[in-house]
Amino acid sequence: MRAVADELTLLPALVAAEECNRLREQLAAVARGEALLLQGGDCAESLAEAGPDTTAAKYRTLNLMAAVISEAAGLPVIRLGRIAGQYAKPRSSPTEIRDGVELPSYRGDMVNGPVFTTAARTPDPDRLRRVYHASAKTLGHLRELTAADGGEFWTSHEALVLEYEHALSRTTPAGRYALSGHLLWIGERTRRPDGAHIAFAASVRNPIAVKLGPSSTPDDALRLIDLLDPDREPGRLTFISRMGAGAVRDTLPDLVSKVTASGAEVAWICDPVHGNTVSSPTGHKTRRLDDVLNEIEGFLEVHRSLGTHPGGVHLELTGDHVTECVGGTYEIRFEDLPTRYETVCDPRLNLGQSLDVAFELAAMYAA
Ligand code: PEP
Ligand code: MN
Repeated sequence: MRAVADELTLLPALVAAEECNRLREQLAAVARGEALLLQGGDCAESLAEAGPDTTAAKYRTLNLMAAVISEAAGLPVIRLGRIAGQYAKPRSSPTEIRDGVELPSYRGDMVNGPVFTTAARTPDPDRLRRVYHASAKTLGHLRELTAADGGEFWTSHEALVLEYEHALSRTTPAGRYALSGHLLWIGERTRRPDGAHIAFAASVRNPIAVKLGPSSTPDDALRLIDLLDPDREPGRLTFISRMGAGAVRDTLPDLVSKVTASGAEVAWICDPVHGNTVSSPTGHKTRRLDDVLNEIEGFLEVHRSLGTHPGGVHLELTGDHVTECVGGTYEIRFEDLPTRYETVCDPRLNLGQSLDVAFELAAMYAA
């Protein structure tokens, strides 16, 4: 691990500090209520699937969604992929049991492989190097795509494997930056204020996001603001609430009102997928589009009743015609899930379902 990390410190950074600053300025507009953020992509990127086609499919999906939402809301929509680095997963259980065999859980292609064999599930530090090169290629494809349509498109992933993140951090004239992606977020399971992940995020100048689940207290949020945004710089900190459709209307108001009362200017966006994962009768991990839409609706209701800005959404999606979530215009049913269930981690909205969400969001923001 140390040898690979040392090698990464000598390779070119994947993104530029100036780009991170530019995204921070755009997120400041979200915090002020003058723009929206659309963040989306795979739950976990796959090294086997990485290539120009999957990148273009996700890029086009986010592009279409952003156009639909922007037109209806009358606000610019910032496009931010869960892409070019989203290769590490926190897991609820360290091991997985299938047919009486127990193996380490899959932790993302940065750590081990998804296939249920001892060889694949054994962590391999060389994967950090493979992820770096795959991410560099994906960024190259994204730069080709944005050059062709002249727009800006940013990258993000969960800052989970700190060896990788430290190895790709660089000290620039403007300060220290994590240059593995433009925005990094800290997940629900690693957001302890005294933990290593928050300490890492506090040490870099990128825009940072933190997931806030239903157990988050206003004190947790205020503590995170003090640690991550001591200068109260709009655009530096985004909170991603992921409460679940049944809880958002009860848990979110207190958090938002106490953060607002503290004077902090953070951006708020909604992850309507991670609080709404269920098991299907076929044994697949899935999500109902109706629950996703219901959580987004609750998020908008809460912000509108408090006079704060519902700043956008964070979604797990792919541009392909997979069958991983149920519902939508093409009405994927539980019994359809085995047809094209391809995710290596959480279920993603397919192209049709992503556009369904975009049109519903457009209607909600136009209202
Ligand atoms: C994720 O974004 O894939 C994830 C694991 O989310 P959370 O930290 O909100 O559970
Ligand atoms: Mn996920």
